Amino acid sequence: MLNVPPQAFPGPSSQQRAAAGGRGKVPLKPGRSLMDWIRLTKSGKDLTGLKGRLMEVTEDELAKHNKKEDCWICIRGFVYNVTPYMEYHPGGEDELMKAAGTDGTDLFDQVHRWVNYESMLKECLVGRMSAKPIAAPKEISTLSEEKKQLNGMVPEKKAQAASAKDLIPSYDWFQTDSLITIVIYTKQKGMNAELVIADCQDKRLRGEIIMDDHSYLVEVDLDHPVQEDMAGLFYRKCKLVSKTEVTHDTKLFCLMLPKSTHLHVPKGRHVYLKQIIAGTEIVKPYTPVLPFLPLNFKEPSHHEGACIYLMIKIYSCGLFTQALDHLQIGDYISVSNPEGNFKKTQIQTSEDVFLLAAGTGFTPMVKLLDFALSEVSCLRTLKLIFFNKTEDDILWRNQLEELALKDKRFEVQFILSQPTKDWLGKQGKISSSLLSEFVKRSKKDSKVLICICGPTPFTEQGVQYLKDLGYSQEEIHAFTA
Ligand code: FAD
Ligand code: NAP
Repeated sequence: MLNVPPQAFPGPSSQQRAAAGGRGKVPLKPGRSLMDWIRLTKSGKDLTGLKGRLMEVTEDELAKHNKKEDCWICIRGFVYNVTPYMEYHPGGEDELMKAAGTDGTDLFDQVHRWVNYESMLKECLVGRMSAKPIAAPKEISTLSEEKKQLNGMVPEKKAQAASAKDLIPSYDWFQTDSLITIVIYTKQKGMNAELVIADCQDKRLRGEIIMDDHSYLVEVDLDHPVQEDMAGLFYRKCKLVSKTEVTHDTKLFCLMLPKSTHLHVPKGRHVYLKQIIAGTEIVKPYTPVLPFLPLNFKEPSHHEGACIYLMIKIYSCGLFTQALDHLQIGDYISVSNPEGNFKKTQIQTSEDVFLLAAGTGFTPMVKLLDFALSEVSCLRTLKLIFFNKTEDDILWRNQLEELALKDKRFEVQFILSQPTKDWLGKQGKISSSLLSEFVKRSKKDSKVLICICGPTPFTEQGVQYLKDLGYSQEEIHAFTA
């Protein structure tokens, strides 16, 4: 709903953009790009109409602001005046209006909970919802007195310089139906996210606040375990160690994980990268690949571990990818935990696997290819049908052709939508006739998996054609946002 970074690709004026249906794909007026929004938020203009004042908002008050020209929305207990943002919302005004005057948290989470709305909408913050008159949860009130104390490590000279009362942080909490917020007042200047360590395991929430050379610990026993999807994404800073060209516009980025991090991104899953662009946090998803296509499938490959490899297309007017391209070796970038809904079991028992990829939609296919050839013992055929504009756009073409020569189970078909006269291969766009030509069971009743990934309209059309050709929902996996 409050999507800021557009996931549908076509440029604002392109026909693709205008033709695409569904959420996240409406044409924005000129001057209403993400960058224009960031500029407006930095202009000092009063976007809430409250002259910087924050207020406690009751449900009745929230409900009054339900019109396009006066629209407030609550997300995770915080209320935003999204009226000035209407024209900048890539999903369109109507999508945003679905939550007008109400709690839009569920709608927001369904569509794109990874978008950092706190940063995007910080100038639109009206205040927080006033707590409903519900009984204090047993768990919060069990916050024990001794845990409110500093951890017994107050350095002597500090204790002399300030009174104990000044040093001891205090806390407050409030809750909505779906969220408990604990506010810790430290009186410490320069507080930032790195000084807070929070872990939630089952019903125990543990927060450690690092303050100079001592820390403050809060432990809370909750009534119910926290649902994972409420917990938000965890990011760690990774160092860019190499950046190599794949094609004229696509690069392979190698990001080194911190030594203390243990993270393997499962096949078919993506991570989010976070960068601060013009003072605003922007988040975009990327699907880790392998550093190269293994040609020997006798043993499972273990390339990942210390590094994450990302194959990223740099768009000449892309907000995020331009900033990425400007990163220098040795710079750091925030990488989230993996997300996505692909399950290994979907491919483990497949006999025929078809991978339909368009452009960088190839990225989830890399690990699937590797896994299917090395670990799926019942696999008979694996076919990659790879759609690109021109020959120059084909990612890892040599490696794919080499693999097809080496492993008889694997076949690759390149299909170009804008080839030069010299192209002797297949030409066209995804269509029912192309799919019926290339997607065929090797035996009448063989177990099939078809994975599809590319620009949203490509994926949506592909799924429809496949269904029309008689493939079931269970036989198709579409990679989407
Ligand atoms: P934007 O600022 O969003 O777009 C700027 C402009 O660039 C557009 O207005 C348009 O003019 C131009 N543009 C962008 N895309 C196209 C296009 N396809 N055709 C024509 N013009 C275009 N991308 C990767 O490169 N590698 C990945 O591994 C990858 N994984 C993804 C995984 C998921 C789950 C999803 C949803 C997307 C993935 N993407 C991947 C896309 C990525 O998240 C960004 O959307 C992309 O990098 C563009 O970001 P941007 O901010 O640079 O471009
Ligand atoms: P691209 O080069 O613009 O296009 C690749 C091919 O797809 C071209 O042949 C192109 O034909 C065709 N195509 C584009 N739009 C189409 C449409 N509406 N209908 C049918 N065919 C279409 O692609 P790209 O720039 O690399 O973009 C890759 C896309 O994949 C991005 O949208 C990215 O977000 C997405 N992606 C998603 C995931 C995921 O997990 N969800 C992972 C990686 C990438 P034309 O000549 O007609 O343009």
